[in-house]
Amino acid sequence: MTLSGSCHCGAVHIAFEPSRAPAELPLRACQCGFCRRHGARTTSDPESRLLIAAAPGAIAAYRFGRRVSEVLICRTCGCYIASAIEGAAGKLATLNAAGVDLEGFDGRAAEPANYEDETDEARLARRLARWTPTTFAPAVPNA
Ligand SMILES: [Zn+2]
Repeated sequence: MTLSGSCHCGAVHIAFEPSRAPAELPLRACQCGFCRRHGARTTSDPESRLLIAAAPGAIAAYRFGRRVSEVLICRTCGCYIASAIEGAAGKLATLNAAGVDLEGFDGRAAEPANYEDETDEARLARRLARWTPTTFAPAVPNA
């Protein structure tokens, strides 16, 4: 099964291969200032796979706070796509299901998540354990 999604303008496409039914995957509402402004609803799963496809330069990488992760935003329409870090075996990401209008996540309530009190070490360990192995493709499929 492959779930697809894209940003509002279509410059960034994603393909998400869930390891199990989407209804069984987490959906979180991070309470940080950035995610609240965007109404982010994120999902991640280390057993699933994510592909992010966009033309070169189509994605802006924004860093804030501790500046460890890259927050990926469509340069054209401003949709928040995903946050990514570098893992030992490649990129890992948490996908903003709301930002890419991901199939299978419509109408689900998100669980509020507050990570403010995490240490840097705990934050990295959580991301390495939970985020989704992610590859980037330099073109837009079906464009
Ligand atoms: Zn866009």
